[in-house]
Amino acid sequence: MAPNISIAAMNEISDHIWPKSANRNNDGALVISGLDVREISHKYPTPLFILDETDLINRVQKYMKSFSKASHGNKLTKETKIFYASKAFTSSLFIKLIVNEGMGVDVATEGELRVALAGGCKPENIVFHGNNKSLEELAFAIEKKVGLFAVDSFFEIARLAQIANEKGVKPNVLVRVTAGIEAHTHEFVATAHEDQKFGFSLAAGDADEAVRRVVKDENLQLAGLHSHIGSQIFDNKGFEIAATRLAELALRITKEHNVQIEMLNLGGGMGIAYIDSDAPLAIEQMSSELVDIVYKLFTTNGLAMPQLAFEPGRAIVGPSMITLYTVGTTKKIELENGDKRTYVAVDGGMSDNIRTALYGAQYSVTLASRLSKAEPMLSRIVGKHCESGDIIVKDCYLPEDLVPGDLVAVAATGAYNRSMSSQYNLVTRPGVVSINNKKITEILRKETYEDVFITDPGL
Ligand SMILES: *Cc1c(COP(=O)(O)O)cnc(C)c1O
Repeated sequence: MAPNISIAAMNEISDHIWPKSANRNNDGALVISGLDVREISHKYPTPLFILDETDLINRVQKYMKSFSKASHGNKLTKETKIFYASKAFTSSLFIKLIVNEGMGVDVATEGELRVALAGGCKPENIVFHGNNKSLEELAFAIEKKVGLFAVDSFFEIARLAQIANEKGVKPNVLVRVTAGIEAHTHEFVATAHEDQKFGFSLAAGDADEAVRRVVKDENLQLAGLHSHIGSQIFDNKGFEIAATRLAELALRITKEHNVQIEMLNLGGGMGIAYIDSDAPLAIEQMSSELVDIVYKLFTTNGLAMPQLAFEPGRAIVGPSMITLYTVGTTKKIELENGDKRTYVAVDGGMSDNIRTALYGAQYSVTLASRLSKAEPMLSRIVGKHCESGDIIVKDCYLPEDLVPGDLVAVAATGAYNRSMSSQYNLVTRPGVVSINNKKITEILRKETYEDVFITDPGL
């Protein structure tokens, strides 16, 4: 069977999927922010994450601008807060880049909180999430004067109030509401239907009760409502339903307690393009529709327009980063229908990209060290781990003349790749370099065997 892709399409570096600065130089090698990936790999060995810093900064600025008051006339009375969801990818130098542009940071553990603070994020610009924050984590966050606590359970409301009482402070609290929406995405990453561990159920009345307890507690300050409906979302339908239900809750709260909802945080989940056919709504359009939706919902109910907040993670860092691998072995097999497919094994795998195994995620890949005019060959990119499910890209096309030693690059690996990485099979986790106009900064060093073995007292 002839491949259903042309040689030109196979070799294309489209900015729908790849970072803005990515293209091929005269040698046909992939270039990121002016640097040939072959050159980068000489100094920083593969597997390696490469961040296009300008692409990242442009995206951060686009998010800030799209939600700014100036872009929405009198609909917004306060600047919208954007908290970068740092679980997508974090490092202190990375946080510094984001924070410099005015973004806040969303953290879900003390570890993420420590990195956010080390990266220079002001504590008042941090929101602390998590369905099972420990007493130690809550106490640490209160000590550090974290600006917002998204409470997730009745236990946590009581724990937070107790610590606040002991320390004589009054933390700002967002009540995390499960709005009963299934975002159109994979089951494992959808987080807003009711049968899930996060948040207070609206349907069961728990959300109303949580607000009641926070309002009544003199140690806590109700700051607003929060909902996060899922991930890799391409349009506003889910956000609209969530906002509608939260507006109804806001109306009940105002009637019952005579308090206004100051902040409405609609979470993250904005989708990105991993493959050609992915078509997420541009953030300019998404933001303008969202502001209109919330404005209408609140003002028609006679409620003051709340300050808006969002927590994009994937959409900020995902598209700006690629993973560079070296091909080690290849193996051609014959499928049952007689077609051929080639296993292309690279020097990383499920330890640096678990999303394919975990969610059936799809990625785009290209031959990065040269341009080949050879025919497309149906391929499967796999790693070096002891699992047959150790797959990075399930079905893709690479040139038929691919050989060991060639570099291949996988696009849009910025989010939930390095942050979910493991040392499975005792591998050293890859480094991350950021490139800005040919200048390389290592933002996470590649691990050494000393790092891997440090917890083994017998070694
Ligand atoms: C994971 C998460 C986010 C970010 O999700 P993305 O899909 O990366 O945008 C935001 N808020 C909360 C509460 C989350 O759990």
